[in-house]
Amino acid sequence: MRLSKSIVGAEEARAVERVILDDGYLGMGKVTRDFENALACYLGVEPWQVISVNSGTAALHLACQTIAIEEEARIAQMTGKPEIIIPSLTFVASFQAALGAGFLPVACDVLTETGTIDLEDAKKRVTSNTIAIMPVDYASNPWKLDETYAFAREHGLRVVEDAAHAFGCRHHGKKIGSFGDLVCFSFDGIKNITCGEGGCIMAFSKKSAELCADGRLLGVVGDTAKRFAGARSWDSDVLHQGWRYHLSNIMAAIGLAQLERLESEFIPARNRLCNLYRQNLADAPSIIFFRTDPEDYIVPHILPLRIVDGKKEIVASALAQAGIPTGLHYKPNHLLSLFGAGSPTLPNVEKLYGELITVPLHPGLSEADVLAVCGVMRSAVGESNEY
Ligand SMILES: *Cc1c(COP(=O)(O)O)cnc(C)c1O
Repeated sequence: MRLSKSIVGAEEARAVERVILDDGYLGMGKVTRDFENALACYLGVEPWQVISVNSGTAALHLACQTIAIEEEARIAQMTGKPEIIIPSLTFVASFQAALGAGFLPVACDVLTETGTIDLEDAKKRVTSNTIAIMPVDYASNPWKLDETYAFAREHGLRVVEDAAHAFGCRHHGKKIGSFGDLVCFSFDGIKNITCGEGGCIMAFSKKSAELCADGRLLGVVGDTAKRFAGARSWDSDVLHQGWRYHLSNIMAAIGLAQLERLESEFIPARNRLCNLYRQNLADAPSIIFFRTDPEDYIVPHILPLRIVDGKKEIVASALAQAGIPTGLHYKPNHLLSLFGAGSPTLPNVEKLYGELITVPLHPGLSEADVLAVCGVMRSAVGESNEY
């Protein structure tokens, strides 16, 4: 059994083969453009709003850098670094991306019942240097996202949404990535769809989109349009710092094949397995699922569970003994040496850190696998294991 897994096969292999044998152009070109168009179509936005890149981390970094450029005038007035508030319960990529773009990442607490940003705590961390917030759709949960955007507007903050877990999800009827400020997806090996490695930024102004598009190609102005037309830029200007973050035709081909399988295969499988966990652990003592909003539509990327009453270690060792792999999403970032070494104290996220166990979830898992995991967990927390 695997904790998570890339679900790829003949379709992806054939798509890559077509790029290699039929076209032979491996870099960013027509297939990348087709993938961006397909993403735009899936999300119901314009093609210019999708800026594909070669990882989710690159997407977050470029989104943060774009905000730093757009808010240059405000930042120039400040003494000290511009700040971005990020919930501590996230992949270290969120914090590193912000730091890399020149921000001071300010860790804030999360809600115990959802693992998502605690706006009350975030409010306390807003200073005259705060430029942005980075809410994370933790475990694919877009909990109160509208409120988070309202909070940002109220405090004059830009938003980089880390939607790495949330491709395919909806908040109050709207697809994640179809609204916001700068929304970042990851298409790494184990996300809801994969390119092998990849990601994209969803932009909601022409200016932001342009900065992201140039920024992924070393800042070379207008290079995206040339590459999509099969040409190169030999004599263009550069206005800002940029990076080699573009997505190749090869990776885009995998992404296109995956997008075809999302609605028919991956979403139903993830939901079916997640529901099976819920049914079989519903009455187990000391095991708590994160709360979700019935008006949100969730495509679960990971399944972190809270093991309360001090039973995390018992459950973790029972699973390990049964040969079932588990994960921890995540060690809180403010406990890492680079990002605060434990300061400030964030009680909710620290509590969750002592409770969380991520159990296996991916479309390649069988129902028997899920029942086996549930059985081990139920007996570890002292429930009967018979059904
Ligand atoms: C996966 C992930 C990222 C980074 O994406 P990569 O494509 O792996 O670089 C960022 N944030 C979160 C919450 C993630 O899960």
